[in-house]
Amino acid sequence: MTTLSRRTMLAGAATVGAAAISSLNLTSPVKAAAPQFGKTGSGFYRRKLGDLEVTTILDEILVRDVTASMVRNAELADVQKEVTVTSPDGKIRQPYAPLVVNNGSKLVVLDTGNGTRLGPNLGQYAENFAAAGLDTKNVDIVLISHFHPDHINGIRLKDESLAFPNAEIQVPAPEWAFWMSDENMAKAPEAGRGTFMNVRRVFKDLGDRIKQYQPGKEIVTGITTVATPGHTPGHTSFLLSSGKESLFMVVDAATIELFVRKPNWHLGFDSIPALAEETRKKMLDMVVTDRMLATGYHWPFPGISYVAKDGEGYRLYSAT
Ligand SMILES: [Zn+2]
Repeated sequence: MTTLSRRTMLAGAATVGAAAISSLNLTSPVKAAAPQFGKTGSGFYRRKLGDLEVTTILDEILVRDVTASMVRNAELADVQKEVTVTSPDGKIRQPYAPLVVNNGSKLVVLDTGNGTRLGPNLGQYAENFAAAGLDTKNVDIVLISHFHPDHINGIRLKDESLAFPNAEIQVPAPEWAFWMSDENMAKAPEAGRGTFMNVRRVFKDLGDRIKQYQPGKEIVTGITTVATPGHTPGHTSFLLSSGKESLFMVVDAATIELFVRKPNWHLGFDSIPALAEETRKKMLDMVVTDRMLATGYHWPFPGISYVAKDGEGYRLYSAT
């Protein structure tokens, strides 16, 4: 019979303790060596809308300071103060989040993100598109809202080949007429000419792959285009609807959440500010009155929200 002395027991306990500690400790350098990612992270959000399957793909979230040119008709100090209501650090967080809609017979991409031209950490669209289980080769239609670079640049890959090789590209006819006019390009201020040139680069040599649509038209079952001019002359939004459910993709008719709360404020990037304000209010009123879901291209990801009237402006409530 073995008798354990108190000393032996303590020694044994110490040994067990040491073993336990060393196994817990896991010689920590292994943990510290895990690489950081350096990107926002992959992101997509999917939901059913009647018979439609809607996927929001995160392209990137840009974090930036408020600048004097951001709002045309308000003092910088007032804008900075308003931004701190939702961002105590005073920074604007601007997601880029295009939609993909599968209506059961067609796979439709609604705008395409920044592509690969803005820098190494911008443009995670392709990665997140694949992470969502989607294949660019299966896309039937690329449906474009307007011709700002963050909406059309993803049509081309870095080597200028087509990101969606089998898709036709549907663009708003009024937007095409405005940006493809050499006369408008000549009249544009120097700083605005780059957008005209970018449009020509993206749509170059695409022949009859490009189809122009008149806003108001149903593109495929469940996706209707709605004229929402002002942000650009031919800016177009998308009404998704199936069964009893509707989702209004405002795109940039109310760009970031700030302009939902302050619809009277004029975004520096709006081409026709007074018209943009009128369109923005009309559209947000419609969403509130008809109690439909809404989302924006730059709303807090994943964006799908209910909208309520709030004083002079509106407020977003996440519906995800
Ligand atoms: Zn945009």
